[in-house]
Amino acid sequence: MTQQKLQDGLGRRIEYLRISVTDRCDFRCVYCMAEDMTFLPRQQILSLEEIERLARLFVAQGVRKIRLTGGEPLVRRGVVDLCGRISALPGLHELVMTTNGSQLTKLARPLAEAGVKRLNISLDSLNPERFRSITRTGELQQVLDGIDAAREAGFERVKLNTVVLKGRNHDEVQALAAYVLERGLDITFIEEMPLGEVGRDRGEAYCSSDEVRAVLAEQYRLIESAENSGGPARYLRVDGYPDSRIGFISPHSHNFCDTCNRVRLTTEGRLLLCLGHENALDMRALVRRYPDRDEPVRDALERALQYKPARHEFSVGGDVQVLRFMNATGG
Ligand code: SAM
Ligand code: SF4
Repeated sequence: MTQQKLQDGLGRRIEYLRISVTDRCDFRCVYCMAEDMTFLPRQQILSLEEIERLARLFVAQGVRKIRLTGGEPLVRRGVVDLCGRISALPGLHELVMTTNGSQLTKLARPLAEAGVKRLNISLDSLNPERFRSITRTGELQQVLDGIDAAREAGFERVKLNTVVLKGRNHDEVQALAAYVLERGLDITFIEEMPLGEVGRDRGEAYCSSDEVRAVLAEQYRLIESAENSGGPARYLRVDGYPDSRIGFISPHSHNFCDTCNRVRLTTEGRLLLCLGHENALDMRALVRRYPDRDEPVRDALERALQYKPARHEFSVGGDVQVLRFMNATGG
């Protein structure tokens, strides 16, 4: 089967699909969820079979990389088998996952065996009380054990994701860097994005990537790197630590839209063309209306891509601009 090439209205090639496999999670991170979340009823979310069908369709259309995320992807029953089926799709270069790490002591190896190539694991603090206060329910040791299990399971790379918040964890930037450098892992420091009303003024906690970088430069000799994962992260190398990379995702201070190659499928099957806009295609309605025919689904997809916005328009503080929570969107 020859692979097609999906392209948006501005000529950007769409090769990367992020799929939120559940909106549920065992954590309630302060920047991601409200404390009392209501989750979607079962019939509103894509079934595992529908996710697999859409993944197959996207890969046939030229998508090369799929990331499963959520919510917490590992709390959805059957997700390891789903990984096995998606990773086997002809034409897909890599299947990767973002997880909070809480289930990895038991699932790291099955995931690697199911063909997941790389893992991103979220870790915002190395202090158990702080970790609890940021995640509201999380157990630090469980996640640290999960990271160790992932290191032993045979993934090509393991990367940590840290959302840096003033007054919560910005003073741990050096300690988190030391943790990854000693273990040959990567880390990406992320600026908080204004997604969903979580009951705080986000401007208050904003910490720019440039500030994080300046703090790291006090401790390490940082080397500019031209490496690019095709995504929004910019990377640095650290003198003396050839196995690690330090990345920054800076939606506020550095715009990355020109080279955007990605779209997102929400838990409900809405295809979001840009994280910062509401333009979406209801793919759940399409797969349910056409259970045996891919053609109308594919045609609608190609048409929708012509409306992928040129850029997001996030700004610091002020109003919440996108009334969607990260967990249903797929961070
Ligand atoms: N539960 C998994 C996890 O935490 O890694 C996967 C889903 S989570 C929504 C994906 C990533 O989005 C995490 O690294 C999380 O820290 C990040 N995230 C969540 N809300 C965010 C926000 N408002 N701004 C920036 N990053 C956010
Ligand atoms: Fe759960 Fe991940 Fe959101 Fe934290 S960031 S509440 S772990 S989905």
